Amino acid sequence: MTSLFDTIVYGPFEAEYHRDLVDDQFKAALRDFLSQHLLPQVDHTILSTEGTLRARANADRFCGPHSAVRNCFFLDFKFRGVDGDSDVSEQLWFQPIIGEFEVAMGRPLYLWTPERKIERESKRRKHEEDTMTVRSAMRLLTADSVHRSICPLCDTKLTVTGGDGVFGVCCPRGCFKYDFSISNGKQNDFRLKMGM
Ligand SMILES: [Zn+2]
Repeated sequence: MTSLFDTIVYGPFEAEYHRDLVDDQFKAALRDFLSQHLLPQVDHTILSTEGTLRARANADRFCGPHSAVRNCFFLDFKFRGVDGDSDVSEQLWFQPIIGEFEVAMGRPLYLWTPERKIERESKRRKHEEDTMTVRSAMRLLTADSVHRSICPLCDTKLTVTGGDGVFGVCCPRGCFKYDFSISNGKQNDFRLKMGM
């Protein structure tokens, strides 16, 4: 039976450990794992696929019996579509005893579909714009104006702590936190952290 995941190129593996490990059973386990976790996320017609699986520790000297990383692999996989590709790039751990895969740190296997990529890009752009808006509003604060300041993103009165020229300013709705000091009427040591 052919599978969408038959296109995966394995290795090349430098270590004998991986050359022994990566057999038909291993490849079948990977195909099962990817079918189960990726296919439900694909939301477009699949024209073709491509992928690679490489060993993170690609040498015999890293693959001794006590090696922590010898069962860790880098997966890169792509479903090609008409209006863009869906891709995933992740570290997978293989558990030889039960013959199963899992994602490093127990994360879900997340497929970046064309739609999700557009969403990610627009969030990134909004974050960038918000950061610029807040930065320029905060750079105008003086020791006199700081207690009257309003969040430029949500129009809420900002919470101000400190005094004596050292201030912490934050939006009570969590938009940002800004720390700065003022000497001779000039801001110093300003630090902006977006989102809290
Ligand atoms: Zn705010």
